[in-house]
Amino acid sequence: MTDRTPTRAEGEKILQAFIPRMGRRYAGGRNTDHGPGAHKAVSVLSPYIRRRLVLEADVVAAALAAHGPEDAEKFVQEVIWRGYFKGWMERRPQVWQSYRSGLEGDLTAIDRDRRLRRDVQRAVDGQTGLDCFDAWAAELVETGYLHNHARMWFASIWIFTLGLPWRLGADFFYRHLLDGDAASNTLGWRWVAGLHTRGKPYPADAQNIATFTAGRFTPRPSDLAEVTQGLEATEPEGLPPVQPLRPVTAPKPGRPTAL
Ligand SMILES: Cc1cc2nc3c(=O)[nH]c(=O)nc-3n(C[C@H](O)[C@H](O)[C@H](O)COP(=O)(O)OP(=O)(O)OC[C@H]3O[C@@H](n4cnc5c(N)ncnc54)[C@H](O)[C@@H]3O)c2cc1C
Repeated sequence: MTDRTPTRAEGEKILQAFIPRMGRRYAGGRNTDHGPGAHKAVSVLSPYIRRRLVLEADVVAAALAAHGPEDAEKFVQEVIWRGYFKGWMERRPQVWQSYRSGLEGDLTAIDRDRRLRRDVQRAVDGQTGLDCFDAWAAELVETGYLHNHARMWFASIWIFTLGLPWRLGADFFYRHLLDGDAASNTLGWRWVAGLHTRGKPYPADAQNIATFTAGRFTPRPSDLAEVTQGLEATEPEGLPPVQPLRPVTAPKPGRPTAL
C-alpha cells in the first residue's frame, strides 16, 4: 500500500507521481482492481482529497495541463463525482438524517436479533466463505482503502446476496475508509441499492468480477443473487424535496468545519 502519511507534502507527492497516468491510461485501466499494494491504475488520492490536503481544483488542473481535455476527460469526470455528491446531499440533508436514524434502528435490531448479529459479524470479519467479498472486507479493515469497483461489488453483495441492512454496510465502510465521506459513501451505497437512481440497483456480476479483478477472483454466477429489484419499496415516499442553499458563513477560527 502507498505510504499514508497524512500530510500535504505526501499528498502532493502522490499527485505528482500519478500525473502521467491521468490520461488515456486511467480511462483504459481504472476499472480493474489489482488488489492491495497494486492499485496503480487509480490515484489512491481520495484520503488526501477528502481532507483537502490535495484540492480537486489542483488535481483537475494537473490532469488538463498534462493530457488536454479529451484524454483527461474520464479522470476529471471522476473527480467531479465527489463534488456532485456533496452538493446533492447539501440540498437534501434529510437523506443524511434518515440514514443516521435508520442506522440507530439497525444497530438496535442487531442487539435483539442473534442471527442478524452473527451474519453481520461474519461479513465484517471476512468469514462469509465468498472469497472475493471476504478479501475486500479484510483489505478495507487492514488498509482503509478499496478500489471503486470493489466498493460497488461489495455493497451489492452485502445488500442483495447476503441480504444485510444497507446502512450497516455503509457504516462499516464509513468507520474504516480513510476517505470516509458522508456524501460519497452514503450516496454510493444508496446508488447500489437503487435508492439514488431509483429503480436501478447495481448487480454484482460474476463474469464482471473475474474480468475486472484480472482473474484474482472467479465467483460462480450461482454464488451471487440475481438482482431483480432494488430497495425502492423501503422508501415509498421517494426522494425528499430540494432545500434552498444555506447562507455561506465564514469559518470561525478554532472551530472545526465539515469539509
Ligand atoms: C459504495 C461506495 C462507497 C464509497 N464511499 C466513498 C467515500 O466514503 N469517500 C470517497 O471519497 N469516495 C467514496 N466512493 C467513491 C470512490 O469509490 C472513491 O472515491 C475512489 O475509489 C477513491 O479511490 P481513488 O482516489 O484511487 O480514485 P480515482 O479513480 O483515482 O479518482 C480520483 C478522485 O476522484 C474522486 N472520485 C472518484 N470516483 C468517485 C466516485 N464514484 N464518487 C465520488 N468521488 C469519486 C475521489 O476524490 C478520488 O480520489 C464510494 C463508492 C462506492 C460505490
